Amino acid sequence: MNQRLPGHAATVVIGGGVVGCSIAYHLAKAGQKDVVLLERSRLSAGTTWHSAGNMETYRADPLIFEIVRYGVSLFPELEKESEQALGWRTTGRVMYTHLPARMAAYRSVPRLAHARGIEVELLDARKLEQRFPILDVSPILGGLWIPNDGRVNPTDLTMAYARAARRRGATLLENCAVQRIRSANDRVQAVETTIGEIRCDNVVVAAGLWSSDITSTCGVPLPLYALEHFYLITKEMPEVPRDLPMFLAFDDYLYGREEVGGLIVGCLDRDALPIATRDLPSDFSFGLLNERWDQFEPYMSTALQRFPALERAEIRMLLNGPESFTPDGQMIIGPVPPVAGLFVAAGMSSNGIALSAGVGRIMAEWIVAGRPDLDVSRLDVRRFARCQASESFMRRRATEIPSYCIEMHGPGDDYRTARDVRLSPLHEYLAERGAHFRSICGWERASWVDRDGRELSPRTLVDEEIAATERDVLAIDGSMNSKFLINGDGAAAAITELFGAASVPIVGEATTVLADDGCGAIVALASLARLAESVWLLSAEAEQETSFREWIRVRLQQPHVSVRDITAEYALVRLLGRRRERVIREVLVPANGLCGSMPASCWRDRTAAVDALLVPKGMALELARQLESLAVPWGGHFAEEANRIRRGRPAFGRELSAFTDVPAADFRCFSGRAVGPANPGHRAVMGTIDCDPGLDSGLEPVFSSELPVGWLTSAAWIRSQGSSVVMARVAAAHAGARLQVLVGDELVPLRPRES
Ligand SMILES: Cc1cc2nc3c(=O)[nH]c(=O)nc-3n(C[C@H](O)[C@H](O)[C@H](O)COP(=O)(O)OP(=O)(O)OC[C@H]3O[C@@H](n4cnc5c(N)ncnc54)[C@H](O)[C@@H]3O)c2cc1C
Repeated sequence: MNQRLPGHAATVVIGGGVVGCSIAYHLAKAGQKDVVLLERSRLSAGTTWHSAGNMETYRADPLIFEIVRYGVSLFPELEKESEQALGWRTTGRVMYTHLPARMAAYRSVPRLAHARGIEVELLDARKLEQRFPILDVSPILGGLWIPNDGRVNPTDLTMAYARAARRRGATLLENCAVQRIRSANDRVQAVETTIGEIRCDNVVVAAGLWSSDITSTCGVPLPLYALEHFYLITKEMPEVPRDLPMFLAFDDYLYGREEVGGLIVGCLDRDALPIATRDLPSDFSFGLLNERWDQFEPYMSTALQRFPALERAEIRMLLNGPESFTPDGQMIIGPVPPVAGLFVAAGMSSNGIALSAGVGRIMAEWIVAGRPDLDVSRLDVRRFARCQASESFMRRRATEIPSYCIEMHGPGDDYRTARDVRLSPLHEYLAERGAHFRSICGWERASWVDRDGRELSPRTLVDEEIAATERDVLAIDGSMNSKFLINGDGAAAAITELFGAASVPIVGEATTVLADDGCGAIVALASLARLAESVWLLSAEAEQETSFREWIRVRLQQPHVSVRDITAEYALVRLLGRRRERVIREVLVPANGLCGSMPASCWRDRTAAVDALLVPKGMALELARQLESLAVPWGGHFAEEANRIRRGRPAFGRELSAFTDVPAADFRCFSGRAVGPANPGHRAVMGTIDCDPGLDSGLEPVFSSELPVGWLTSAAWIRSQGSSVVMARVAAAHAGARLQVLVGDELVPLRPRES
C-alpha cells in the first residue's frame, strides 16, 4: 500500500471501520475527487471486526427503515463492484415475547411491513416453535417472523466498501493515526497525523468510540461513550441446525443466532459497563475486553430457561468488545458546530453494520450536495446540547441506553441517569407541587403537574391541563428555552433583514420566525418578541439549543447589534387560556407588587394564543407566588403541545427541520418570507382522527389506498372534542387524497381540517 500522505484532500475520513469505509466509498461514488481515509491500524480493527453482523431489515421508525433498506439493496451491487463476497446469509429472524403489551404492539407490524414491501408474519407460540425449535415456548405468547433478515460478515463488508472506494479513486491509508484536527477561525484547515499533515476542506470523523477524542482536539467533544458489549459463543450443538433463524427478544434483553453449528447469545444490558477510551491501550486494535461473567449472569440464566439445550453446550467464549452509544441510542451524524467543515458519523449504538451503507450515502450527500435527501433531524448531532458531551453526563447515561432503547415506555418514563443537570429557577417550586419531569438536553422540563398528589394517570392529568387552557388559564415554565436579548442601533435593521418586515412584531407582541441558514434550510424555529422599540428577545425550545445558538453566532454577529445570552439569568413563564390576559394585567399592576419590585417584560403571541412573562431568575419565585394568589394552575409540556397542535403551528424536528421538503407556507403562522422547497416532496396535512394515539404519539404511519404515504408528526387528544388534532407529513402527490392513520392495528380515517 502507498503510504505517502497527499498534501491536500477535499475530504479526509478518519477511521477505517465499516462506517468510515462506507463514507469513503459513497463520497467517491458521488464523484468527489481527493477523498482520503486514514486508519491508525488496519481496516476494521476497531469495533467492526468482532460484530455479530446481524441485519434487522424491519424497523418501525420510517427513517431507520429507509436507511437499512438502502443497505440491503446496495449489497448485491457492492459485491459485484468490489468483487468481494460479503458473507451475506438470509436466515430469517424470529422475535418473541412473553409480555401481552408487546404482543399487542406486534399485531400491527405485518400490515405496515407489507405496505413497506417487507414480509413479516405474526406467529403464535406453536408456529414460533416450528420456526425456532430450540425455544421453550411454554411462557411465550408469540412473536414475529421476518424471513428476509440476514447476516453479513462485518470484515468482508468493510473490505468491499474499501475496495470499491479505491477503484473509484479514493485513497485509503492504514497505519496512519490522526493526532489532531487543526482549525482556524472556526474552519477546518488540516489533519495532523503520525506520518505528516494533510490540508483539507472537510473532515468526517468516523472513528467509532474514539471519535470524541479526535473532535476534542479542535475544541468540540461529542455526546458519545463506549460500553462493554458482549455475546456468548458456544461450541457446536447437535440441537442447532445450520439454517436456524436469528432471534431477537426485547423483553428478555437477548439476541442471537447460529454460529458454526453453535449459538451466539448476546445481551442488551440493563446496567451496562462504561469504558473510557483512556482506559484502553493506545494501540487497541483487533482487541477484546475481559470476559464479564458476573455481568452476563442474569442474561445467561434467562437464556438457559428459553433454550434448554444450552445447558449441555460447551462455551467457546464470552466475547466482550467496546461499542459507543449516544444519549438516546441513535447515531450522531452531520456537521459539528462551530467548526465549519467538521462532520461526524459515530455512536452507532450497536447497529453500525446494518446502518453503514445508509450512513455512507447520507454523509456523502451532505458533503457533496450540502444536504442529505432524507430528513435526518432525529440523527443530527446538533439535537444534543454541549453539556451532554461531558464525561460525567455520558458515562452515566450510556449505561442505560442498550436496554432503554428496546423497552416499552409510557409517557411517564424517562432515563434514570444524568438527571438534574440543568434546573429552571422554578424547578423546586414545581417539583414540590407535583411536577413530573423529563430530561431535554440536560434540562428538566415538566410534562404535567399532579398538583393535588392524586396519582391519576398521565392522560387524566394532561386532559385536565388542556381543559384549563380551554376554560381558564394555565402557566407553563419555559425557562429552559434558549433566550437571547438583541439590541443596539443595528438591531431593528438586522431583524428586518433576517426575518422580513412582515414578521417584525410591534412592541409587546411576539411572532414565530424561521431561522434559516441563508441558503434556504431552516435551522431553528424561534419566537421573536419585541420588548421595546429596539429591544428584542429571540427564544427557542430547549431541543434546538445547539442549532439555534449556532445560528445566532453566525447570523447575528453584525456591526451595531448587541447579542446577550440570558438563558441562565432569566425565568420565562408562558400563560395559555382565556384568562391569561386578565392574569397578565393583574400581575403587572404595580399595586400587586410585581412591577414595583422587579423588571418584568411581557408580550403576547396572538397566533400561538400565548402570553409570556420574563423575569430575572431571582424573582421567579415571587412571580410564581403572584400567580398562585391569582389561582393560576401550573401545567406541563403535553398541554402546551396540545395548544400548539390545535393552532396548526409546527415544531422544529417534527413538522419542519433543516432537511424538510415541506414548504413552511403550509403553516399559517408565518407572516414572513416563505422558506422551503419550490417543488415540495411532502406536504403538511392538518386534521383530526377519532381516537387517542397516546401522549407519546408520533411517527404513526399514514396510508392512502393501502399505500404508506407519510406519518403523523404531532397529535393531541382533545377530550372536549372527542377526537385528536393531528399534523402529518404526507407525500405531496397524496396530500389531497383520502388518508388513514394506523393507530395500534386499526386504520382510522384522517379528516383534513377545513381551512
Ligand atoms: C459485541 C458486539 C456485537 C455487535 N453486533 C452487531 C450486529 O449484530 N449488527 C450491527 O449492525 N452492529 C453490531 N454491533 C455494532 C457494530 O459493530 C458497530 O456499530 C460498528 O462496527 C461501528 O463501526 P465504526 O466504523 O463506527 O467504528 P469502528 O469499527 O470502531 O471503526 C473506527 C476506526 O477508527 C480507527 N481510529 C480510531 N482512532 C483513530 C485515529 N486517531 N486515527 C485514525 N484512525 C483511528 C480505529 O482503529 C477503528 O478502525 C456490535 C458491536 C459489538 C461490540
